[in-house]
Amino acid sequence: MSITKTKKKVFIETLGCQMNVADTERMLGLLDEIDYVQTEDRMEADLSILNTCSIREHAVDKMRSYMGKWDKTRKPGSMIALAGCVPQQEGTKLATDVRTADIVIGTHNLHRLPDLVLEAEAKHQINLLNGIEPAIKNKGVYASRPQVAEIWEELPEDIPETPIFRKTKYYAWVNVIYGCNYRCTYCIVPKTRGDQRSRSTTDIVSEVQALAAEGFKEIILLGQNVDGYGLDIGTNLAALLREVHKVDGIERIKFLTSHPCDMTYELIETVAELPKVSKYFHVPIQAGNDEVLKRMARRYTVARYMELVNYIRKLMPEASITGDIIVGFPGETHEQFMDSVKVVQEVGYDACNTAIYSKRPFTPAAEWEDNITHAEKQERIRLLNAICTEVAEKQALRYVGKVEKVLVEGKSVRNPDRLTGRIFNNKTVNIECDPALHDKYIGTFADVRITRTNPWALRGEFV
Ligand code: SF4
Repeated sequence: MSITKTKKKVFIETLGCQMNVADTERMLGLLDEIDYVQTEDRMEADLSILNTCSIREHAVDKMRSYMGKWDKTRKPGSMIALAGCVPQQEGTKLATDVRTADIVIGTHNLHRLPDLVLEAEAKHQINLLNGIEPAIKNKGVYASRPQVAEIWEELPEDIPETPIFRKTKYYAWVNVIYGCNYRCTYCIVPKTRGDQRSRSTTDIVSEVQALAAEGFKEIILLGQNVDGYGLDIGTNLAALLREVHKVDGIERIKFLTSHPCDMTYELIETVAELPKVSKYFHVPIQAGNDEVLKRMARRYTVARYMELVNYIRKLMPEASITGDIIVGFPGETHEQFMDSVKVVQEVGYDACNTAIYSKRPFTPAAEWEDNITHAEKQERIRLLNAICTEVAEKQALRYVGKVEKVLVEGKSVRNPDRLTGRIFNNKTVNIECDPALHDKYIGTFADVRITRTNPWALRGEFV
């Protein structure tokens, strides 16, 4: 007689950027090996993980607020883990400080998660047997729990390859480079993710081949500075794109996030030449003024950035360019801010992420006087957002009436009667479709005529 082992359930809340989403997929892959399956309902989870982000101000407060809430409303006997950038940033002090967590782990040693979970499970069992768990509950939020914590300051020499549980079936994010060698004065990433480490081209191509064999159609090569790929191992992103392009079954390739210092003419020419590579570039400029860029330690000028944009437009007039801009960096004058507005108009971004500057601990800029009032920052971001919306809306109009090849990803979250997908240039398109036909289209490439637009998405119908 065979005994079926009951799977334990894990709930993961992911905060922050695509790197954290990729880490969550790795955590799910690792936990699958010790019999955990994902649940979307925290109240039935045996293990709840908060995958934190430290990119914004008050990240620690936000994390504490989550932990307090989760501790009060958790399935009895279940465990809580704290993972991601906040523990990595704050180090072991935080691990001993947050007593509501059973497990604390940083970004540098994620592969250790299964061991820590098993260790915590054992401690937890002893606790439950000794009747300690109800006592903890009675004491409230910050009662002491037996904790397993590991935060490695240093990165391991060899990054262990970890299993990945992918939430999506048709497109996959593939990490090609970890960390970053730049030291932008506002950015916490080098501390939380370490220096740049590229994966070998052979490993990446093997992973992409395996994904193609599983039926994945689109690959997004991911890195904090993806254009820096290979510079530490004697190759580059253009060469990697050529290798990935050869994989049969993969029909569309994208990469992000670019850095203007490492984006080369060779890379732009390669994108223009390879038919399966999306003509889509996410290249943050962060500020439209050279003085501000210098204080940010971005190491390029606006003129250099515009050279790259113009070369992209020359080779691929239809390309989609998106960017990021920080508003109210310490010392930014009104005139300097207006230079950022000008850049948005000159580039003609398809979309631009904007954010008000906020101090991140452990960064050089956090020591500088933040001399712009909150009201002024609000005023600037309102204006910038209005211009970004206007520009994006104008850009989107170029698609109206055209037929675009769309990878249909699933039902629209806002309106489940519609389907949603992305065109070759990465723009989202929502498609009117009889719900009875949804299954026919999901996961396929389909021709969609674009009928309407708004600044953020297109609307279309199947041809
Ligand atoms: S390039 Fe600058 S902003 Fe981007 S991850 Fe590296 S340090 Fe941070």
